[in-house]
Amino acid sequence: MKRRIYMDYHATTPMDPRVLEAMLPYFQDEFGNAASRNHCFGWEAERAVDRSREIVADLIGGKAKEVIWLSGATESDNLAVKGVAEFYKDKGNHIITAATEHKAILDTCKALERKKVARVTYLPVDERGRVDPEQVREAITDETILISVMLANNEIGTIQPISEIGRIAKEKGIFFHTDATQGFGKIPIDVDELGVDLLSATGHKIYGPKGCGLLWVRSRGPRVRLTAQIDGGGHERGMRSGTLNVSGIVGLARAAELAKAEMADEHRRVFALRERLNAKITGELDEVYLNGHPTDRLAGNLNLSFAYIEGESMLMGLNGSADPDLPAIAVSSGSACTSATLEPSYVLKALGVGDELAHTSIRFGLGRFNTEEEVDYVAERVISEVKRLRELSPLYEMAKEGIDLKDYFAGAQH
Ligand SMILES: *Cc1c(COP(=O)(O)O)cnc(C)c1O
Repeated sequence: MKRRIYMDYHATTPMDPRVLEAMLPYFQDEFGNAASRNHCFGWEAERAVDRSREIVADLIGGKAKEVIWLSGATESDNLAVKGVAEFYKDKGNHIITAATEHKAILDTCKALERKKVARVTYLPVDERGRVDPEQVREAITDETILISVMLANNEIGTIQPISEIGRIAKEKGIFFHTDATQGFGKIPIDVDELGVDLLSATGHKIYGPKGCGLLWVRSRGPRVRLTAQIDGGGHERGMRSGTLNVSGIVGLARAAELAKAEMADEHRRVFALRERLNAKITGELDEVYLNGHPTDRLAGNLNLSFAYIEGESMLMGLNGSADPDLPAIAVSSGSACTSATLEPSYVLKALGVGDELAHTSIRFGLGRFNTEEEVDYVAERVISEVKRLRELSPLYEMAKEGIDLKDYFAGAQH
């Protein structure tokens, strides 16, 4: 077994060697500035950037000229939301989003509220993490200028009913943005079928480089306009100034191209690995609860709550801090360490998962380079770790003795 096993593909992914290979020439031989109009160095860089636009547009069914390059999905979410809110402030000031969005959306919305640029409705989700499109409809007012709902959630993998929401947005003439970061390159996307007007994605979640992302902005039917958040040389049709990260763009596009060619096969393979992991764990342990949607979820996502243990203790047992002689397993817990306290995940909270169960959750993120051997090993380690921790848990003892722990399970799905 390897010394380290990576199962945190929602946080980031290793770069595919074929992506690195495509990028390498653009660090040295083809180092030109894509904005240099006077010589072949600039022309070659511009050609590479434009080819990359075609590839990415092809993956989502948009037009090449509608792709804006920027530093990642965080910047993309910021530009989409702030750009629309500021440009259309005379039309209205209301934004609709969901409680389980990534912080790049939630914190952007909070910043607009603080500056009194916008009023924001944060829609609740059901116990599987889905937004109800009818609630989107009901939240719309005469002031609504933007709806932003993510394609797939980064913690629980739940896929949102984007095309239903898109139909409502279109009917009401409201712009619709989706943070597609986790679904881009993993599930088929067609911006027209989904009815979205803006779409955010990033390279490093699809085996591409970090620090390079995109915002796709519809140019016709309707044309979406944005207030730039970074001013400078007027690059990217004035929407995002700054010298383009040519090697990063080439890498992102190569990653997108591979994702398109291999999507169906990869989906099958990763899905089978996840099912194998889930079957092994739940076959051996009781009181394990799935967080998120049972079927409408990312193939590589398995988010489980292991009742009566602390997710953090479990992480220590898995990540090598407890025993450095064992292979280190990289997964995430559903709690976020903020300075002194351990806050349960706001996403799990929004699903109605009680604090106790939220604290016991582990996110397994499977991807391209995981193997069956790794899955089997991780399952084995998880099982023995949970059994060990439960032996130390007085609550687990009580439950086994038949004492009612209703409060413990507030909100849990049985
Ligand atoms: C990773 C992620 C982001 C942030 O992307 P960066 O490129 O790292 O800025 C935004 N939204 C979602 C859903 C993500 O998973």
